[in-house]
Amino acid sequence: MFESLSSRLGTVFDKLRGRGALSEADVSEAMREVRIALLEADVALPVVKDFVAKVKERAVGQEVIKSITPGQMVVKIVHDVLVDTLGADDEDSAINLRAAPPVPILMVGLQGSGKTTTSGKLALRLRTRERKKVMVASLDVYRPAAQKQLEVVAGQAEVVSLPIVPGQMPVEIARRAMDEARRGGFDVVILDTAGRLHIDQELMDEVAQVRDAVRPAETLLVTDAMIGQDAVNLAREFNEKIGITGIVLTRVDGDARGGAALSMRAITGKPIKLLGMGEKLDQLEGFHADRIAGRILG
Ligand code: GDP
Repeated sequence: MFESLSSRLGTVFDKLRGRGALSEADVSEAMREVRIALLEADVALPVVKDFVAKVKERAVGQEVIKSITPGQMVVKIVHDVLVDTLGADDEDSAINLRAAPPVPILMVGLQGSGKTTTSGKLALRLRTRERKKVMVASLDVYRPAAQKQLEVVAGQAEVVSLPIVPGQMPVEIARRAMDEARRGGFDVVILDTAGRLHIDQELMDEVAQVRDAVRPAETLLVTDAMIGQDAVNLAREFNEKIGITGIVLTRVDGDARGGAALSMRAITGKPIKLLGMGEKLDQLEGFHADRIAGRILG
């Protein structure tokens, strides 16, 4: 992810760095190129505009043009605005488990976004890193294969999967998971909801019902990093209708342009918490804005 954005910005900055002095026109020209690079990376237009405006504002305020190393200063400002846009606070990216156990975590998103895989990855992470006793439960009553898939993934992560009872509705399964987890002394329950190919009212209503039934400490929107411009609508819809607490980007190991990462955080104000870096269960990483900004800017 971010390879092409990174190389485009690299070219812009190389030009800037090479100059002894910068005129206002030079800065404007550089910002025009930054804008194009962001748009090409599929960052949503309002986010791009805001980004460029912030950089310009800071560049003027810091009297870049009069400084001895103006190019370096512009690069530093772009870096800082990038970190702000991606989410500056590392604390934010931690999974919130501050609730009475069992702590429910709701995984939401479109079908194929990587929800089930990510549920297994998160279960493994919480079990091994935080020494939590984790249960997972599939609420996908429409696709028995999905329920089975979560069972398999749970086995690999060495966590308990709630036994499948055919004929139950998602809310009933969620309640049963919480009851069983309470009885069994579990710390965390990861609820993997059904996804559809597109956002629809039925899906939103169902997820909202589950949310109201279990009051999750985290509602994580799982999104394929490749979705590009659709990221904005998706994040906005889920955030308005369900109220997400964080975002997980999957397939970050692929050649996604990265726009989704910048747009979703900026549009929802909700932190990106985790990155899926591959199909294997241990390929899940915490999100650190500073590191990502460093990767983009080289
Ligand atoms: P769901 O329908 O949302 O539950 O999606 P799945 O968890 O079944 O994932 C769909 C496909 O994406 C599967 O083949 C996963 O192995 C794959 N996948 C999930 N996360 C990642 C990731 O971070 N990187 C890569 N390369 N593949 C992933």
